[in-house]
Amino acid sequence: MCGIIGVFGTDDSLKNTILGLHALQHRGQEGIGVAWTDGQKIYCEKRLGYVSEFAKTFKLTQSPISVGHLRYSTTGKSEKNNLQPIVVNGIDLKIAICHNGNLTNFFSLRKSLEEEGAVFTSEMDTEVIAHLIMKAKGDIISRLKFALSKVKGAFSLIIMTPSALIAVRDSLGFRPLCLGRLKNAYVVASETCALDIIGAEFIREIEQGEILLISKEGIKSEMLEKPKIKRECIFELIYFARPDSHIFSRDVWLVRKELGKMLAIEQPADADIVIPVPDSGLFAAIGYSEQSGIPFSYGLVRSHYIGRTFIEPSSQERASDVRIKLNPIKSVIKGKRIVLIDDSIVRGTTSRKIVKMLKEAGAKEIHMRISSPPIKFPCYYGIDTPSKGELIASSHSVEQIKNFIGCDSLGYLSVEGMLKVVGDFYENGGFCTACFTGNYPIPPEDAEFISQLRLFRDY
Ligand code: AMP
Repeated sequence: MCGIIGVFGTDDSLKNTILGLHALQHRGQEGIGVAWTDGQKIYCEKRLGYVSEFAKTFKLTQSPISVGHLRYSTTGKSEKNNLQPIVVNGIDLKIAICHNGNLTNFFSLRKSLEEEGAVFTSEMDTEVIAHLIMKAKGDIISRLKFALSKVKGAFSLIIMTPSALIAVRDSLGFRPLCLGRLKNAYVVASETCALDIIGAEFIREIEQGEILLISKEGIKSEMLEKPKIKRECIFELIYFARPDSHIFSRDVWLVRKELGKMLAIEQPADADIVIPVPDSGLFAAIGYSEQSGIPFSYGLVRSHYIGRTFIEPSSQERASDVRIKLNPIKSVIKGKRIVLIDDSIVRGTTSRKIVKMLKEAGAKEIHMRISSPPIKFPCYYGIDTPSKGELIASSHSVEQIKNFIGCDSLGYLSVEGMLKVVGDFYENGGFCTACFTGNYPIPPEDAEFISQLRLFRDY
């Protein structure tokens, strides 16, 4: 997970970077970092916490190029030292690097770099990219090509030097990255919602395997290697990206609504109202209601003043927070047979608490419908899913999950139904569906990598 942005070609680049990070806050809530330049050196400020807190006291300065990063750790602890951008003010090269994704061969690379004498200052996989770039020779593009030929896994990168902004997407295209224009300036960002907030116009997505260099000379595009297949993360469309973003050539809200429609076809229910788990189930519930003819109703109100449940760093903290976050409207719920829609079930603990809350509010029946297939496998490419053992669907049947959650019936969307909606099939290329199917496009090489995924350790 993580949100990244870079702005080139306006003295207000830093202001716009921070504004863009506001729109990307859903991609990471642990900490924020920004980097800027006076044309000679690169400067940087990183702090734990939300963008709004950072913006209150951060002293803006003018800079022609800036980059920003929001951290949601998947490897490494949640601490200031593990925030990005990673900045290196070397003698022959000065760079700041922002990374969204996960490198699956990070530990073996780090080990061999350390054997050569490299000193690592953080636990982040991104630091190996910095070392490899600094080790390489030639211009920035050759150095990047060298570094990125060594790493495996998922990486959308935004990199700045004192004179250029560079955007890169790995050759399978796991994570999104887009390009926009703001008058004479350029913006690259994880999602288009970051372009919208600063009034930039969307130009296109960075291609899988593309290196885009933006400098005073204009835009130059090169390829890392000729991409053979595409493996965009389907979970970005299902859950992670903002619904008002356009990623992977699709409007996210529309995909979610269509998933809801398909769910209604595959998993009908006899009920009085369709209610979403806000905000994640909202568009799927609209689609389910439209397709089934069962009226949509807003029966759970969400407080927007607390972060996403999952993002809190320990399960204990998570235990009590559903009630803080969600409140049922009793007069909507009482005596009703409800279709309750959410986008996914991970551990099942949130759904269980929501079902209990709705029953206490007088719901007659609760038919839970999920607009994605059962999540059975952890993600190695940057989505924060827990270890296999904690994914309820990895070891429980739908019937057992239903009993755990306490609903009257439970139905998931099928893998085929999901792929039909996005108009693509795994076999022919297109989407990474590893969390549902276990088909990992890049098998993780390092046992350490797996054991160090953040939630493997924390839970
Ligand atoms: P759980 O109680 O563990 O089943 O959590 C399910 C809820 O978490 C659903 O509302 C999902 O929208 C949400 N969710 C799914 N994946 C993630 C993730 N990687 N990070 C945060 N929340 C998630």
